[in-house]
Amino acid sequence: MRDHRQFADDLVLYALHELPEDQAAEFRRHLEECPQCRREFDEINSQLAMLALSSVGSAPPQRSRERLLNAIKAEPRPRRSIVMRRPWWSFVPTFAAALLAAFGLMLWRENVSLRQKLEATQQQSEQRQADLDRSRLVLDALTSPESSHFALVSTKSLPVPEGKASYMRKTGTLVFTAQHLEGLPPEKTYQLWLIPKNGTKPMPCGTFKPDANGNAVMVTPYAEKDAWPKMFAVTIEPENGSQTPTMPIVMAGL
Ligand SMILES: [Zn+2]
Repeated sequence: MRDHRQFADDLVLYALHELPEDQAAEFRRHLEECPQCRREFDEINSQLAMLALSSVGSAPPQRSRERLLNAIKAEPRPRRSIVMRRPWWSFVPTFAAALLAAFGLMLWRENVSLRQKLEATQQQSEQRQADLDRSRLVLDALTSPESSHFALVSTKSLPVPEGKASYMRKTGTLVFTAQHLEGLPPEKTYQLWLIPKNGTKPMPCGTFKPDANGNAVMVTPYAEKDAWPKMFAVTIEPENGSQTPTMPIVMAGL
């Protein structure tokens, strides 16, 4: 089955009785179940009716008529009867109607294509706005006075791993950076936890792995909003992270 968009061209062709019978049958079936196509079809039909009305009753100018009749007189007899059966001006309304219909079809297609371009542009601009919003959230989380910052240090060994978590309650934006992290065992990952003030269970805030120099950065623009962190902590967890922290805590900070 073809989808609704693919019937766009059929609308006009069907109205002009130019659609091959098999396609016309398919289109009729679609028309029965698609109110949008039915509305467009009715619109096109009424436009075509107006075109037909406006092209009725045009008469050839007198001078052209005389010239034509003279030309016919000069023709050899056997051909005259053929010419006279259907005078040339009788084709004028049909021709004008066909021309206007073709012009209408052209405009209608152009309209469809412009509408599609507009939709594409709108999508692009929404994407750009989303990127901008994300950058602004990160910047706010790092620099705004409303944002709270946490420094995390290792609970054991040297050189001392250090972490910094910046969290903005209003937007839930969380930025975490760490240095001097120890390499991980295979299929393990570091996981950051927000430990709330009210004593409820630690909230998982994402997993991260250090690079070759032991540095890590994790940006979560839309983490949990409105949490009151008592502290942040880091544990080592299985590859896909955990729902509750696995002891021991390797870094913690108030
Ligand atoms: Zn449709």
